[in-house]
Amino acid sequence: MEVITTKKALQEKRHNKKNKTIGFVPTMGFLHEGHLSLVNQAKKENDLVVMSIFVNPLQFGPNEDFERYPRDEEQDTRTAKEVGVDILFIPSVQEMYPNDQAIHISITKGTDVLCGKSRPGHFEGVAMVLSKLFHLIAPTHAYFGLKDAQQFAIVHTLVQHLDFQITLVGLPTVREADGLAKSSRNVYLSKTEREEATSLLKSLQVGQQYVQNGEKLPSVIQEAVTQYLQTTTNGRIEYVSVLNYPELANISSTNEQIIIAIAVQFEKARLIDNLILDSYGKQIERI
Ligand code: AMP
Repeated sequence: MEVITTKKALQEKRHNKKNKTIGFVPTMGFLHEGHLSLVNQAKKENDLVVMSIFVNPLQFGPNEDFERYPRDEEQDTRTAKEVGVDILFIPSVQEMYPNDQAIHISITKGTDVLCGKSRPGHFEGVAMVLSKLFHLIAPTHAYFGLKDAQQFAIVHTLVQHLDFQITLVGLPTVREADGLAKSSRNVYLSKTEREEATSLLKSLQVGQQYVQNGEKLPSVIQEAVTQYLQTTTNGRIEYVSVLNYPELANISSTNEQIIIAIAVQFEKARLIDNLILDSYGKQIERI
């Protein structure tokens, strides 16, 4: 595995691999099995796998956890090598953003709900870093987890509207044995919060059960999920939403592909989770 820290070296490397298929896995590091599942799929479908590790300041709000986002470059480098990454790109903030931001990306679809609503500017920051990485790496395929389903939908719009020639792959959420979605931020849960956090998936499954039983009204499903979360965690419920997917618009009936999405703020960690369901309540795990 080659570790690259500059944009120039990365572009040169890409230039020398012109005719290869490249699977790209963008991450913020502190790698766990969720990230590794993306690499495994990328390896199956491409000649080479490029992973980036970059905690992108542009996607964090002023009161968010950019400074204390967990980082462990040495361990991540070992893990990336073990799992078979070919090129690991770990740039500094200075390398990625040497100048003041003179260009801002504004996204008008899918950003006024869920995390876009509670984290203004977040997806614009994601779109900026991904646009840069897509230009530098010129991947043929890029791999994302559907744990961040809103991100996946917005990246889809980005790729479509800016004409990136990249096939996007959305893969299943990897979970702990008790159902908690793996996340770099889970290390910041206290012992009690860690136990309570299992109720995120359980609350989504309550919603899923409603859909399977024929409930069509998003508000009824939202209420049931909220009720379950309220009685099982002390975390602050940031949102519980039922929208269509991937459009992420409000709907009057669940007669289409939907997402049930939640965010819960614990003391030091904000957790998100979701289920994407067809109109019968069957889970869509990959896209
Ligand atoms: P992050 O490092 O949190 O920015 O995540 C990098 C990529 O890994 C994103 O595409 C995430 O959706 C994906 N990812 C994070 N957690 C999981 C998980 N538990 N299962 C599957 N993919 C994940």
